[in-house]
Amino acid sequence: MKDVFAEFPAGAKCTRCRQHPNIRLTSHHTILCCSCFLHYFRTAVRRAMKKFPIERDQPILIAVSGGKDSLALWAALNELGYVTKGIHLDLGIGDFSKSSIDTVEKFAADRNLNWSHYSVAAALGFTLPEIQQRTRRAICSICGTIKRQLINRFSVNEGFHNLAMGHNLDDEAGRLLGNLVRHRTQYLDRQYPYLPSTHARLPAKLKPLYRLEAKEIRTYCKLMHILPLEMECPFSKGATSRTFQEALSFLEDKMPGTKRDFLYTFIDRRKPPQLESAFQACRVCGEPSYGEYCSVCNILRRMRGRAEANGYHEVRE
Ligand code: SF4
Ligand SMILES: [Zn+2]
Ligand SMILES: [Zn+2]
Repeated sequence: MKDVFAEFPAGAKCTRCRQHPNIRLTSHHTILCCSCFLHYFRTAVRRAMKKFPIERDQPILIAVSGGKDSLALWAALNELGYVTKGIHLDLGIGDFSKSSIDTVEKFAADRNLNWSHYSVAAALGFTLPEIQQRTRRAICSICGTIKRQLINRFSVNEGFHNLAMGHNLDDEAGRLLGNLVRHRTQYLDRQYPYLPSTHARLPAKLKPLYRLEAKEIRTYCKLMHILPLEMECPFSKGATSRTFQEALSFLEDKMPGTKRDFLYTFIDRRKPPQLESAFQACRVCGEPSYGEYCSVCNILRRMRGRAEANGYHEVRE
């Protein structure tokens, strides 16, 4: 797992405080000591938060998977004085989901932080792999749809109107490249680290780590004694988003700073998008929906259709 720690000869100096450095930020052409790196990290989160129309006392719910990004985000927003609470969604993916819950529980208990825990099986009657087996759709696409809707629903039910997610610079730059390559203009319009709420049952979404690379977040975790889940989701292999991130890493290795420039030149001159809200209430669950049925109820309806076509009824309402 990459981080940004490096060895330096005697006499080398931190660019900021002139002490001995421990860290090399190639994309910034900078070397830093640990304490200046933490200053750099918090400044990056603070700069991101300044772009978002959120007051310091507005509570923020943080979607926590147990991975390095969400735990680092939670720790950093707390350090900066925001009022936070974690929310974890158990996907029901065997040992991976069990370890995710244990990791979040330990992180929160060690720091006396408040969090809620929900499960896909309790909300929909099936675990994520059970849904995938019964629909045959790509599991990550089902997962994205379900996570998005359930976390929105639980956030608003808990009275939160701001939901923070741990997407980092690598995630956002990879997504931007994918959207540009495929000319997905509707997604490009929404590619911004803050999306305002467009419905009373949808929280605003923010991505305060969009200025930080994955390896910088890993380094912050080490320095802050954060122990994230190292196990990968068994379904993560082969995701196309990874391929775009790898393409950018190739360019980054040849020309440090490229990935950062690529994302910032797209985002930093833009304002939060003005999103249309053309929702109706889903006929089944009542959540905001673009059509008669919301995307989650459509997945469940497809399951029911397959079950009936196979001559049995197994979809629990
Ligand atoms: S890899 Fe796919 S299935 Fe696993 S958590 Fe991520 S989106 Fe969900
Ligand atoms: Zn320093
Ligand atoms: Zn619905």
